[in-house]
Amino acid sequence: MGEKKFRARQVYEWLWLKPVRSFDEMSNLSKELRKKLNEEFSLPALRVDHMQHSEDGTFKLRFKTYDGHFVEGVLIPTDSGRYTACVSSQIGCSLSCKFCATGYMDRKRNLEFDEIYDEVVLLNQLCEKEYGKKLSNIVYMGMGEPLLNYKNVLRSIERITSVDGLAMSPRRITVSTAGVAKMIRQLGDDKVKFKLALSLHAANDQKRHGIMPINDTNNIQSLIDALNYFYKQTKNEITFEYILFKDLNDSLKDADELIKVYRQVPADLVNIIEYNPIDAARFEKPDEIKVESFIAHLSKNRVNARLRRSRGKDIDAACGQLANKEG
Ligand code: SF4
Repeated sequence: MGEKKFRARQVYEWLWLKPVRSFDEMSNLSKELRKKLNEEFSLPALRVDHMQHSEDGTFKLRFKTYDGHFVEGVLIPTDSGRYTACVSSQIGCSLSCKFCATGYMDRKRNLEFDEIYDEVVLLNQLCEKEYGKKLSNIVYMGMGEPLLNYKNVLRSIERITSVDGLAMSPRRITVSTAGVAKMIRQLGDDKVKFKLALSLHAANDQKRHGIMPINDTNNIQSLIDALNYFYKQTKNEITFEYILFKDLNDSLKDADELIKVYRQVPADLVNIIEYNPIDAARFEKPDEIKVESFIAHLSKNRVNARLRRSRGKDIDAACGQLANKEG
């Protein structure tokens, strides 16, 4: 545009490091340049459309995309002083897991890498404002299947970890998948540095198929093989996620099946997650006694298992509850 070179750096910093939502906010540019930028370019940035605050300190943000879609992201403060952002990777989801509110929405489109990065930046800004701290962890566990938006997810992580971005260590980032074996292998080939979580939720094919249709084409054995390949290539931490559903996957026999799968994968941890009811599904959460005996059985068999109580339940911000409900 015939401008001096340093202007490019200024615009770059506004876009990626501050960042702003319009050219008019780029206060160190001249008025004329801002006007020219407005005429020649558009800024397809994500905007915060709605915010909810839970009594436990969790925030849920609804973001609006430049083309009028909505996705959600969550800021989760924990007692251990961690501040975790849970981000979405797609608008809706095509995988239709039966327990997940997003699974009942159509997949509209993938998020672009800069939209995912925007989610993180906006959640980080909120974290600094509310808690005076930067985000300590990021989990790709919001709406959508990250490995079905592979390139954008990896590019967003590149940006988050870059010194020209948020300079966060990739060890503080976890990508969670419902289990796309081919793409788990691809992560291994790409020698990524972040952690991987597999949403297992049932440790035999028949039960898993009943709640996660993706198991049809990606059965448990194929996932075990892919996870071993991923570990061989990267040596990165692997976690299993296992939501307990009453009378479905909460018996000691189910725990034994889970132990069998765990033994075949170099997994560090099994996160046992309490189920959060959603309107569309009829699952229930088991009684406390059942939960305790399930975990005790795992521990007795030397499985590193931890109960994760979801946060933000009162604002539908907990695991599986993200679905752009008005509120
Ligand atoms: S659990 Fe994840 S993969 Fe399954 S439907 Fe929900 S958002 Fe999609």
